[in-house]
Amino acid sequence: MPQLIADRPVLRMTSDLGRVMAAAKAREQAGERVMHLERGEPDFETPPHIVEALAKAARDGETHYPDQRGVIGLREALVEKLARENGVATHPDDIVVTAGGTHGLFLAMQALLSPGDELLVFSPHWMAIPKLVGFAAGATMRSLPVYLDLGPGGWTPAEFADRLRAALAPNTKGIYLNTPNNPTGVVLDRAQLEAIAAVARERDLWVISDEAYEHLLFDGAKHVSLASLPGMAERTIGVYTFSKSYAMTGWRVGYVVAPPAMRPVLGPLLAFYTTHGVFPAAQVAARAAVTGPQDCVESMRGAYDERRRLLLDGLRDCAAIAIPAPRGAFYAFANVREAKAGRDLWALVDEWLGFGVAALPGTAFGPDFGDWVRLALCTRREDVAEAAKRLAAHHAAPART
Ligand code: PMP
Repeated sequence: MPQLIADRPVLRMTSDLGRVMAAAKAREQAGERVMHLERGEPDFETPPHIVEALAKAARDGETHYPDQRGVIGLREALVEKLARENGVATHPDDIVVTAGGTHGLFLAMQALLSPGDELLVFSPHWMAIPKLVGFAAGATMRSLPVYLDLGPGGWTPAEFADRLRAALAPNTKGIYLNTPNNPTGVVLDRAQLEAIAAVARERDLWVISDEAYEHLLFDGAKHVSLASLPGMAERTIGVYTFSKSYAMTGWRVGYVVAPPAMRPVLGPLLAFYTTHGVFPAAQVAARAAVTGPQDCVESMRGAYDERRRLLLDGLRDCAAIAIPAPRGAFYAFANVREAKAGRDLWALVDEWLGFGVAALPGTAFGPDFGDWVRLALCTRREDVAEAAKRLAAHHAAPART
């Protein structure tokens, strides 16, 4: 029997999310109610004015191969958005429109990582990152736990910079940063970003700055883009997406912002294997999203904030589950060491599924998070409240004998 599948480790990587979703679906098919707190999929519809813009653009003939970097009207609107909201000065030629943020991250890694290079990935990190690095031939990643130590009462910026310096290896080409962070909800402040910037400048590192959740902020947190700090625009690839801010996950529209040094690479790289990228009518609609009214973004943010409060309040007195309050994104990262009571993390995840709460094990976000689970807040408000109620009731019961 010939071996049909290529012998590449990246093709053998499995998905913890897929495992939880399959188990949840099996229970639903058996007639049970499941609260879906495992997945980062907004439950809102895309705002109607964006959908209308898509229909109009398609009728107007935006249906052919677009410019490989993306529709110019969108890139021009993004230049303005980046200046206004992110404090990043750029040019339309330094923006490439991608099939979502995932594709933007893929392009960034393809463009940056040579065989033998290492990417230092701050963790816990989004679970697709090891796969995306795995596609960059010969490159490796190393995760560095930082986010849980950067919340209130954590490291000072100077301590953070020292830890970062100590973690660098001779072949570290760059850092993957994600603020607001999936899964912890930690939002790095300016001083913490300045610490990263100082080390990046000193050691000549690139930074891939994943800003997928830039608009989802709570408790007065502010998003600061790394490229807005002195000397950082020239060594940062910013990755953005319409998926979360505008509930557009299925549209597959995102963008990368890179220094001019990347011009000869990013656009041609995209054109090479996707033949010109994203459906142009979807790009015109994305333009309507950034240039149109932003109250839809605020109202979704407000709804996530309400669910966040429901979860935190519902579990406040539950000693077995400790949740540092997330200040951004739409997840809560819960410490479940007590709830696990010495068992394997999957045993706890399965136990929770048994009473209808689907959650993702922390080990999906790096090897150091076996005492954690991620709870997503982008599912229905009623389901978040019910999940908190069931978790609190379950763990309030007397300890198992
Ligand atoms: N970065 C992070 C941290 C994410 O959580 C996600 C989606 N879950 C993405 C990037 C990419 O999303 P998309 O490809 O839908 O834009």
